[in-house]
Amino acid sequence: MEKLKQILAFNEQFVETKGYLPYMSDKFPNARLLIVTCMDTRLTELLPQAMNIKNGDAKILRVAGAMITEPYGSIMRSVLVAVTQLKVEEIMVVGHHDCGMVGLEGEQMIRSLQQKGISVEKMKQFDKPGETVEAWLTGVNSVEGAVLRSVQMIKEHPLFPHDIPVHALTITPDTGKLEVIHVENSVS
Ligand SMILES: [Zn+2]
Repeated sequence: MEKLKQILAFNEQFVETKGYLPYMSDKFPNARLLIVTCMDTRLTELLPQAMNIKNGDAKILRVAGAMITEPYGSIMRSVLVAVTQLKVEEIMVVGHHDCGMVGLEGEQMIRSLQQKGISVEKMKQFDKPGETVEAWLTGVNSVEGAVLRSVQMIKEHPLFPHDIPVHALTITPDTGKLEVIHVENSVS
């Protein structure tokens, strides 16, 4: 609650002093770009700075490990909205080194949830055909594997338009250095 109070107090000042003026833009990304990246806090300012992305330039979806795992999930739906309604013409999936999702064991997540008071019985109810809750909570083996899997999920999605290139990159959270893992030439 304390954090919320602080934020609301700051916000009042922000609006009053027109702190928003340097950030004004419309809903269409100026660079016609969508970035799918991780929720890691180190990337919040570093990633746009390192990629020369200003406010209003790109749609940015942030999800643990930059992983898109569900064809019917809200991340994949957001990708489809971006390319059909928001003028996005190119997509970059950007994972990062030292990501918390790399090497995350489902078992470790189960133990942590138990410590938070979630019973094993309750978790079992969350199993679905073909995938246990433990498997669902498991991370990936490598950051490269994670971004390539997300690119594959997008490219092979039956509703995804084929003329939109989807690239895979990694970023180093210490330096902002980008590495290209997979590049796709525009079809147009
Ligand atoms: Zn991460």
